[in-house]
Amino acid sequence: MKPTESVPFTDLAAMTRDVRTAVEREWARLLSSSRFVGGAAVEDFEREWASYCGVAHAVGVSSGTDALLLALRGLGIGAGDDVIVPANTFIASAEAVVMAGATPVFADVSPDTLLITPGELESAITPRTAAVIVVHLYGQMPDMDALSLIADRAGIVLIEDAAQAHGASWRGRQAGSIGRTGCYSFYPAKNLGAFGDGGAIVTDDTQLAARLRSLRDHGRSQRYRYDHELVGTTSRLDALQAVVLHAKLPWLDTWTEARRSIAARYRAALDGGDCGPARLVAELPGSRGAYHLAVALVPDRALVRQRLAEAGIETHLHYPVPCHRHPPYLRYATSPLPVTEKCAGEILSLPMFPHMSDGQLDRVCGAVREALAAQESLPT
Ligand SMILES: *Cc1c(COP(=O)(O)O)cnc(C)c1O
Repeated sequence: MKPTESVPFTDLAAMTRDVRTAVEREWARLLSSSRFVGGAAVEDFEREWASYCGVAHAVGVSSGTDALLLALRGLGIGAGDDVIVPANTFIASAEAVVMAGATPVFADVSPDTLLITPGELESAITPRTAAVIVVHLYGQMPDMDALSLIADRAGIVLIEDAAQAHGASWRGRQAGSIGRTGCYSFYPAKNLGAFGDGGAIVTDDTQLAARLRSLRDHGRSQRYRYDHELVGTTSRLDALQAVVLHAKLPWLDTWTEARRSIAARYRAALDGGDCGPARLVAELPGSRGAYHLAVALVPDRALVRQRLAEAGIETHLHYPVPCHRHPPYLRYATSPLPVTEKCAGEILSLPMFPHMSDGQLDRVCGAVREALAAQESLPT
């Protein structure tokens, strides 16, 4: 690869190429059958996804945000309930709580993992707390043993937001399979992405799964389709997307392995001297991260980001404005969140996609080290 060639942040087209033939063949069959909503394609994928996650049920829905919203509603969480959410997350984790009619209570995160910690969870619990949404942000998992124990003792529900964590695990258990429910997004850029929007809720709870199937389809009774037992909504996974997900699933572990080895190279490059205090967000022992994102903490981010841009390397920020700083959520910012606020100014997401070539990876590692070394030699 030429040294002047740019490195994109991601490359969805490469993943599409891996599955294109299979998708086109199955889409042609679906077009002849006209089963666009529900049907065998959706049911088959739901079974496969439940089995991949190691749970009894997967309920396909139309997005990751709806997965969270319906999980809350299916669990009876709404007006008058507090739901603890890490302040460092994508807005949807908090948005779903507000949409369910409940109140988000923001918890701070670990300065090493940027994920919620057992200590932060424990101190955020009050008699009004009904649930916690543990977010496996960046594809990393926090200490699920300690978090589950605290939630159980307090009698609150643990919901996993695994929208960035397809294929991640904690001590051998898949993301989403540890809490009462796990919520997934299949947005195209996620580790397992559809060709449009999609999501799923996974759970071992058979009654909850039945409620979720009803909620996603106008509160319909499973016995008689003209009976509406609940006030539901339209939030179904469509069959065209289920076909894409079915075709991509056999690739997921290979893609995750590729992401993990890219992350290992980044970690080695940042730990290799000259990089000052910059580091990759930590992976806890016990957690097997799926590296949806490779996030570094870089004190002088603006300068480093500028240097990388000049070298043709695309970076992004996840997320520069914490949830509680957005106008509609200001009213929920009731306690100080110093780690989230500090880290929001330092996080820098490096290029991360399974098909990244060795040449591209070398270029990013070299440019990152150069940018950080230049920063270190500046007078302070
Ligand atoms: C993407 C994402 C969601 C929402 O998923 P959509 O399918 O876009 O609605 C929720 N939580 C997290 C952490 C996400 O990254």
